[in-house]
Amino acid sequence: MDRQQEFVLRTVEERDIRFIRLWFTDVLGVLKSVAVAPAELEQAFSEGIGFDGSAIEGLTRVYEADMIAKPDPTTFQVLPWRGDRHGTARMFCDILTPDGEPSLADPRNALKRALAKASDKGFTFYTHPEVEFYLFEQMASATDPLVPVDNGGYFDHLARGSTHDFRRAAITMLESMGISVEYSHHEAGPGQNEIDLRYADALTTADNLMTFRTVVKEVALEQGVFATFMPKPMPHHPGSGMHTHLSLFEGDRNAFHEPGAQFELSKTARQFIAGLLVHAAEVTAVTNQYVNSYKRLWGGQEAPSYVCWGHNNRSALVRVPMYKPGKGNSSRIEYRGIDSAANPYLAFAVMLAAGLKGIEEGYELPDATEDDVWELTDAERRALGITPLPQDLDAAIAIMERSELVAETLGEHVFRYVLANKRAEWDAYRAQVTPYELNRFLQFL
Ligand code: GLN
Ligand code: MG
Ligand code: MG
Ligand code: MG
Repeated sequence: MDRQQEFVLRTVEERDIRFIRLWFTDVLGVLKSVAVAPAELEQAFSEGIGFDGSAIEGLTRVYEADMIAKPDPTTFQVLPWRGDRHGTARMFCDILTPDGEPSLADPRNALKRALAKASDKGFTFYTHPEVEFYLFEQMASATDPLVPVDNGGYFDHLARGSTHDFRRAAITMLESMGISVEYSHHEAGPGQNEIDLRYADALTTADNLMTFRTVVKEVALEQGVFATFMPKPMPHHPGSGMHTHLSLFEGDRNAFHEPGAQFELSKTARQFIAGLLVHAAEVTAVTNQYVNSYKRLWGGQEAPSYVCWGHNNRSALVRVPMYKPGKGNSSRIEYRGIDSAANPYLAFAVMLAAGLKGIEEGYELPDATEDDVWELTDAERRALGITPLPQDLDAAIAIMERSELVAETLGEHVFRYVLANKRAEWDAYRAQVTPYELNRFLQFL
């Protein structure tokens, strides 16, 4: 038993922890949890805990249904919302096959494989997500009209506002679990919020995002409201994006920084951005995985619809944020084509792979776009070489299906599963007759 494992056993004993939840995610990024008693922990560390993987989205084929969850002791945390006595804690798990091999169906494993490729080249990959979400009054059914909890807008400070109490409670809970928050504010939509996590290596931020979603849902329930990470809940209000700031480090040196270069971006950073742009359309079914995601991407309101990059250009897919001269280690780029409902493990894996491909192949970065690309005509965009992102899930799947980069990064199993699952989602969606069609056509035709 190693020191981390011993630390967990000691803490469980000292803090009277009665339940240890083993967390992992399915291929879509939905959190799964199985609780074990403290007496089972030693075995969980040595052999893992067996479970039936066939009932979990994307995890196994039926004929190899047994899977093993092996907790990662470095992710041990007491869950603050379960009270002090007879506490509950959690650890994230790696999923193994019955032979003890890392499962090719485990999203956390897909990210680990992508990170190992970066590390072979000497890079550590850091991410810093800005998570947007809505708070609504609780409803009896999902088809009831949506009532946002307030009428605030971007950066509004509302007297007696319930959303800053909400953000304070959520952030206090996150900090008590060792998750640092950098900024938080009211977002542009009524009842819409943003909380930005401090940067950390991508595996940690992906784990942190899973915790974040759970904490936000818990605090919302505690306060009698309802939280959603759905990409576009209301057609005429902004969607919920999850802009993610990315950087590569070589040791403690930020490999994206070069004093004196344009926007202080190194060649490595330029090639990384070029990789993101070249492969953006292929990875979109992963970074924007639901039919609803495309209503955000194509609904205006500062969501990116076109493939281009720029400095402080909020219509660009990749934005280079304000850089502070002399603060080279904060050099980073912001990828805006990802929403709050993405599976963070898979999304970070494909974003990293796209950027690394740019470095490997030495892609040339086109000129930065300073225009608002939504204002340009199609012809003007074509002349500038600016292409659109896929307009719906159907188009996104068709492009991903032909992507070697995505197939290789996700691994054959997850790749096939995502494609089949998304195809089924599109077919079910396409078969709907919507209220829009009834309103528009029933009496008129
Ligand atoms: N909500 C916008 C999006 O969906 C982002 C708004 C902002 O942070 N400037 O991407
Ligand atoms: Mg922000
Ligand atoms: Mg925002
Ligand atoms: Mg942003």
